[in-house]
Amino acid sequence: MSGDPPTEVRVGPVTEVEVAPTLGWPHAVHADERIGWPNVSRETLDWPQLATRSRPTSTQAAVPDVRFRPPGPRRAHFDDDELTLPPGLHAEDDVSRETGGDSKFPLPAEPRTFVVANQKGGVGKTTTVVNLSAALALGGLSVLVVDLDPQGNASTALGIEHAAGTHGTYEVLLSGDAIADHAVPSPEAPNLMVLPASIDLAGAEIALVSVVARENRLLRALTAYLDDHPTDYVFLDCPPSLGLLTLNALVAASEILIPIQCEYYALEGVSQLMRTINLVKGELNDRLRLTTVLLTMYDARTRLAAQVADEVRAHFPAETLPTVIPRSVRISEAPSYGQTVLTYHPDSAGSVSYLAAASEIAARGAKEKS
Ligand code: ADP
Ligand code: MG
Repeated sequence: MSGDPPTEVRVGPVTEVEVAPTLGWPHAVHADERIGWPNVSRETLDWPQLATRSRPTSTQAAVPDVRFRPPGPRRAHFDDDELTLPPGLHAEDDVSRETGGDSKFPLPAEPRTFVVANQKGGVGKTTTVVNLSAALALGGLSVLVVDLDPQGNASTALGIEHAAGTHGTYEVLLSGDAIADHAVPSPEAPNLMVLPASIDLAGAEIALVSVVARENRLLRALTAYLDDHPTDYVFLDCPPSLGLLTLNALVAASEILIPIQCEYYALEGVSQLMRTINLVKGELNDRLRLTTVLLTMYDARTRLAAQVADEVRAHFPAETLPTVIPRSVRISEAPSYGQTVLTYHPDSAGSVSYLAAASEIAARGAKEKS
C-alpha cells in the first residue's frame, strides 16, 4: 500500500459464477457432478491458457534482510525434504540468523489489527496467523494473537495449552473478562501473546445471540487491552464460517487479510465474504479495509497455481502481497510439534516465505505512517 488515503473495499467483478470456470478448469470438459472434478485425464485436455502465462514475477522479489535468532532447543532437525522454493527465494543466502535482538521490522504508526478471514476452511488462515505473528515477533515487534476458532489450532501451533476448560476467548466474549486476564506468552517468540480458544468456544455462537451489543464484545475488550499493553500487531484467527465469532473479529479489526489457496475454486466464497465485509463496513465498522491478500499453498510444479495466482492478482492488484507461500511439508508438520515453521524449520521455503510476507506487511504499514 502506498501512502494513499484508505480506499473503498473493492468487490470487483467477482461472482461465484464468473470466477469458478476460469480458475483452472479446462474449457473442454465439465465437472463430474458426483465428484465435482473432471473425470478424464487432465494431461490431454484443452487448457485455456496452457503454459503461456508465466509464474507470478512477484515471487522474484528480493527477500528482505531480516535477522532473528530462533529458540535453539525447540529447533527441529534439518533435511532437504522440501518442495521447490518459489523463484527468487534463497533460504540460505537471504535470511541470516547470526544476529538477533533489535527490531528488524519497522514499527507501525499505530497498532494494526488484522482479521484473517475466509469462510472456506483449510485455505491457510490459521497457518498464516501463526507464522506471520511469529515472524513479526521474532523481528522485534510486539504481537497479540486472538484465537476465535473453537478448534484452537492457532493456540496449538503457538505452543499454548487449550484443553477444554482453559480460559480464553470464550470468557472475554461471554463473561466480559479482560484479554490481559487470559492472554499467555507463546514460547515461539518474545513479545508474542496468545488469547487461547478451547472447544468451549463452540457454544459461543449461540450464547452470544442473547448478549447485549453482541457484535462489539471483542472490540471493547481489545480496545481496553491495547490501552495499557503496547502492541504493534494483532491477528484475529477466524473459524471457517461467517457467524458471530467472525463478525466480532470484523468489527474489532481495522484491516482484513484474506488468504487464498492456489487451488481449484480459489475464489469460491470470496464474493460472499466481500458482501459481508461491505455490510460490516457500512453498519458496524467503517475503519475496516481489505488491505492484504496472501496466496498460499502455491505449488510451483503446477500451471494451475500460476493461473490462480494471476487470477487473484487481476482481482486484487494492490492488495495481493508479492510473496506467495509455497505448499510445504514443513509448514504442515510444524503444528504437530506445537511450533510455527519459523522455529521448527527455519531454513525451509515455508519459513523464508512467511518471513518475507511479514516483512512486506510491516513495510506497507510503515509507509502508511508518512
Ligand atoms: P484454515 O485455518 O483456513 O482452516 P489451516 O491454516 O488450518 O487452514 O490449513 C489447513 C491445512 O493445510 C493444515 O493442515 C495446514 O497444516 C495445511 N497447510 C496450510 N498452509 C500450508 C502450506 N503452505 N503448505 C502445506 N500445507 C499447508
Ligand atoms: Mg483455522
